[in-house]
Formats: sequence, structure tokens, C-alpha cells
Amino acid sequence: MTTTTIGYALFATRWLQAPLYFGLVAAQGVYVYKFFYELWTLLVRCVSGQATETYVMLAVLKLVDVVMIANLLIMVIVGGYETFVSRIGLQGHRDQPEWLSHVNSNVLKVKLATAIVGISSVHLLQMFVDVHHTSHHSLLWGTVIHMAFIASAAILAYMSGPMAALAAYRADHAPHKESRGQGTDAASSAASTEAVTAARSVPIPAQASAPHRADDAGTEARVRAAGFPARKLLEDFDEEHPRAFDRETVARLGKLDFVAARRNVVFVGPPGTGKTHLAVGLGVRACQAGHSVLFATAGEWAARLAGAKDAGRLAEELTALDEHALLIVDEVGYTPFDAETAALFFQLIAHRYERASLIVTSDRPLGRWDEIFGGPSALAMVDRLAHHAEVVRIDGDSYRMRRATTSAWAD
Ligand code: ADP
Ligand code: MG
Repeated sequence: MTTTTIGYALFATRWLQAPLYFGLVAAQGVYVYKFFYELWTLLVRCVSGQATETYVMLAVLKLVDVVMIANLLIMVIVGGYETFVSRIGLQGHRDQPEWLSHVNSNVLKVKLATAIVGISSVHLLQMFVDVHHTSHHSLLWGTVIHMAFIASAAILAYMSGPMAALAAYRADHAPHKESRGQGTDAASSAASTEAVTAARSVPIPAQASAPHRADDAGTEARVRAAGFPARKLLEDFDEEHPRAFDRETVARLGKLDFVAARRNVVFVGPPGTGKTHLAVGLGVRACQAGHSVLFATAGEWAARLAGAKDAGRLAEELTALDEHALLIVDEVGYTPFDAETAALFFQLIAHRYERASLIVTSDRPLGRWDEIFGGPSALAMVDRLAHHAEVVRIDGDSYRMRRATTSAWAD
């Protein structure tokens, strides 16, 4: 507990940086002033007929230079703030620069380096335009320095590719409890389903058997970051097993329109009927489609939100979760919640409402959620959750039990 508090405290010191960015905004103002000063001088000299062609070109280059430095400043201000201080949360503002959505210190470094190369080429150009007034010495050094900038930008750009690949490689090869668990689970489930449902079984897509292909490194990283308890695919769900089950709705959900529409999905059914399987299956699809997903059981979410609340940063935590297009709350109802936890869940659901998607699984129909979340918040919560939700009821016997009777490999 103390270590997390210390961690939070240290992490909070990032706000010390915030004024620095405002300082840079002031510097930006200085450049705006300088730009108009230069522009005014240029206009005045043109009008009074004192401007030679070389002079105009030099003055315009100077203006370009000022604009480029101002661009560089904006990049540092916005990108640096977003990377090191706090999310700006432009929520897809139409003016959001394309790089901001995937900005990280690596991207930022490369962007800065290329911006500096741009600025130095303008300087070099200025020297060449005014070559009669530039000493041999400055010309030589200008060229050398420019080359050095180009070389370092090239090296940075080159490094950022392998560096990203290395990070993905490390993530892939790190010992991972989930992937080990899921390996044996997948194997046993394959062994047991094979015998019974060979005719129906859908081959596992290539993505599952060759997860190290370069083009789905992003998917891999997202699946890993999502924290699924096991990798379950919609394709592996045996639609014949549940007694009652709306397969059309699930097929439609598989197209992920609900994520784009920020709607919710609720799976309700008795234990072992595949609620978690379907929730994870949709989650994996979302990862493949490039969405960020986070999976946890209701108990884990409760602990996480309670921790944030104790640290006085519940609102920040909820905002940080906006980064994930899809949150999965598994097993709501296995343990009843006290009033405080119920209130936290209410906040989570209210915060996500019309903002981003949730998938919830529960062994109890929404109408009986007051048994889980005592008190008046249950009704309000169900209302928010269900308003834009697809409720999928699954009925049938536990798949685990079936496996226990049909296969010696059952878990
Ligand atoms: P629940 O969350 O409803 O309790 P799970 O999704 O955890 O159930 O399912 C239990 C196990 O049975 C999992 O390994 C799951 O993959 C498997 N399973 C359940 N239903 C099916 C099904 N219809 N087809 C294939 N596997 C299933
Ligand atoms: Mg489950």
C-alpha cells in the first residue's frame, strides 16, 4: 500500500512539468510577434522600393524559418504534454494532428529531429542565397552541421523501427502466465471438442497459430495488454451447445458495430454457458480491429476503482479508462457488493455512458441486480447500462460439465 502511495506521489510530480509547457506557449507568442515584425519590415521595404530580389527571398526564408520553429514548439508542447503529463483527450477533434493519436517519446523524437533538419535546411538555404556575404568558414560549418542533423534524424528514424519491433518481440517472448494457461486450455479444449464436434468445428484462424507475423504485432500487443484470462475466439464457440442463444445477435456483435456506436453488451446466463468465452471473443475481435480493450472481473474492477478512489484520483482513473474503446467486466454477481463498491460501479457505468463500450457478464438477469448492488443505485445503474445495450441471454448446461462427461481432459 505504501509503495503504491509513493508510486502515485512520484507519478503526480509530472504535473510539475505542466507550467513548463505554458512557458513554451509564451515563447510561441514571442515567435508570433517576431513573425509579424519581420513581415512588417519586409512590406515596408518593398513599398519603399528598397527590396532587392535577394533581400525578399532572404526575408521570406526567415518567415518560413519562424513558422517552422513555431511548428516545432507546438509539437513539443502538445506532444510532450500528452506523452509526459496528461492526456489532452481531444476525442477525435477534427483538427487533431494524425500523429497525436500514436504519439510516444519515440515518435516525438523522430518528429523533432525531422523538424530540426527542416529548420537547418532553411538556414543553409539562406546562407547560399546570400553567399557573397557569408564567410567560407560559416558556409562550411553550416553544411557540416546540417549533415550531422540529417544523419542523426536518419539514425533516430531507423532506430525507432527496430526499437518498436524489439518491444513487441520482448512482449511476445516474456514468460506469461496467461498465455501458458491458455495454451493448455486451448489444447485440452481442442482435444475434447475435436472428438465430439469435428464436423462443426471451425478451423482456428491463422492469426491464432502464427501470432508473430509482423502485420499483427499490434493485435498481439493489444490482446496481451487487454489481460484476457485465456484467448477465446468467437470462431471456437460451439453454437449448438447452448439450449437457447441468439446466434444472430452474437454474429452481428462480432462485426463490432457496438464499439463504434459506444453501446454495451450484457451476457446473462448460468455458469459455464460461455459468457466469458463470448466476451473475450468479442474483445479479441476488437483488438484485431485496432481497438484498445481491458478485461477484468467485477471484483478486480472494484479493487482497481477503490484503489483510485483512496488515492483521490477516481475521476482521473475514469478518464484514463476512456483510452480503451472497450472494457469487459466479467462475473458481475458472483459476489455481492457493499454500498461503496456499488457506488464505484455506478460511477464507472455512468462515466462510460454514451462515451465508450462495456461488455458485462452476469449469472443474474438485470432485473435481479438489486440483489448484487443493494440500494437505489442498482436501478439507476441498470438503466444506464441497459439503455444502449444488447442483452444476450444464454441458456443451457455448463459446457464444463459436458466436457467432464465426454472427455477425460476436462478441467
Ligand atoms: P461462463 O463465463 O458462462 O461461466 P465460460 O465462458 O468460462 O463460461 O465457459 C467455460 C468453458 O467452457 C470455457 O473454457 C469456454 O471456452 C467453454 N465453453 C463454454 N461454452 C462453450 C461453447 N458453446 N463452445 C465452446 N466452448 C465453450
Ligand atoms: Mg465466466
